[in-house]
Amino acid sequence: MTEQCDVLIVGGGPSGSSLAWALRDSGLDILIMDKKSFPRDKVCAGWVTPAVMESLQVDLEDYSSKHVLQPITSFQTSALGDASVQTEYGEVVSYGIRRREFDDYLLQRSGARTLLETPFKSMEREDDHWLVNGEVRAKLVVGAGGHFCPVARQLGTKLGHKEKVVAAQEVEFELNEEQKKQCSLKADEPELYFLKDLSGYAWAFRKGDYINIGLGRDDNHKLSEHVQAFADYLKEQGKLGFDITERFKGHAYLLQPDSSREILEDNVMLIGDAIGLAYAQSGEGIRPAIESSLMAAEIIKEANGDYSKARLEPYRDRLYERYGKPRPGAKSWIPQGFKQFIGRKLLGNTWFSRHVVIDRWFLHRQQAPLQSK
Ligand SMILES: Cc1cc2nc3c(=O)[nH]c(=O)nc-3n(C[C@H](O)[C@H](O)[C@H](O)COP(=O)(O)OP(=O)(O)OC[C@H]3O[C@@H](n4cnc5c(N)ncnc54)[C@H](O)[C@@H]3O)c2cc1C
Repeated sequence: MTEQCDVLIVGGGPSGSSLAWALRDSGLDILIMDKKSFPRDKVCAGWVTPAVMESLQVDLEDYSSKHVLQPITSFQTSALGDASVQTEYGEVVSYGIRRREFDDYLLQRSGARTLLETPFKSMEREDDHWLVNGEVRAKLVVGAGGHFCPVARQLGTKLGHKEKVVAAQEVEFELNEEQKKQCSLKADEPELYFLKDLSGYAWAFRKGDYINIGLGRDDNHKLSEHVQAFADYLKEQGKLGFDITERFKGHAYLLQPDSSREILEDNVMLIGDAIGLAYAQSGEGIRPAIESSLMAAEIIKEANGDYSKARLEPYRDRLYERYGKPRPGAKSWIPQGFKQFIGRKLLGNTWFSRHVVIDRWFLHRQQAPLQSK
């Protein structure tokens, strides 16, 4: 039996489900394929900026009535081991969600047909459409399978090969009554700890009764040791009065300036982590993932059924317009030692922490939310 659709989206994470949602009134028949069943876990700190909720028109009251939605009103930042700076906003400037819940909510809300527990295996060209896994016929295939998206491979990406990725590990678990008493992290105030060599940062983030702890850096060297040292540090500092017994889980992803992945092919587009769109300083990937979906949706609607590469090309232009052209392999002209020295000084400065680190790097307040048309 062959399944037919206009648009097959491979991957039901935030980028895939947002694309389906943005195309809900287009008259196109949309099918989402994912190798997992939902709800499913995703390695992530689960921090989303308000722009995400606005662009996706999420009803916050409705969402929070059934899911964890932790309002964030302040941040603590520091170079790991140095004194921290508190940046207090006195209003909600961001949110904590659980990816298990958030991704399932977005997928269900998209209204698209789904083909879950179905790993993508192959795609072959047949006249003007693709035959995927030998059983789904689609006019357009959209790769939304995250960093290891199999459709990206189809467009020539050698996954896991010669790409400068962020390697990260995190753990998320529900605090029991005893642990709640022994946890001094404030729920509305995530703590960010920049590594002394400025190669990344660690975080400790309480959301409701859950806690998320992790560390990401721009190389994989001794990652588990760095993560363990950070967990020990939190205990020494009295932030956690207990050992973390849950297993840290790892994942890699690309920052937007470092990505050299192809974006388009005839009747194929890639969105979200599949092309590497995460913001360079914060590693926030959900916002650009859903924004790329909204841009892709516009182009798909404008294409009027002609999904040739030439017709889809404006998608690339819109991505570059919003995020700049990636510059993989570009070297910084500032010597590393100087960068570290200045970086640590600046991280101890309250003005810099508020206006640059949090407002610009982490909240991206300088960029208005993308509106879905
Ligand atoms: C440790 C860590 C912490 C992070 N913290 C944050 C954060 O706090 N805030 C933030 O904004 N970003 C964060 N990110 C980045 C964020 O997780 C990603 O940018 C975001 O998930 C990208 O969404 P996506 O839909 O493109 O891909 P994904 O969320 O990865 O979804 C891809 C989907 O494709 C499916 N899939 C994969 N392969 C196949 C296949 N072969 N066949 C079928 N389906 C397949 C998967 O099952 C999955 O459901 C973090 C990343 C890491 C690693």
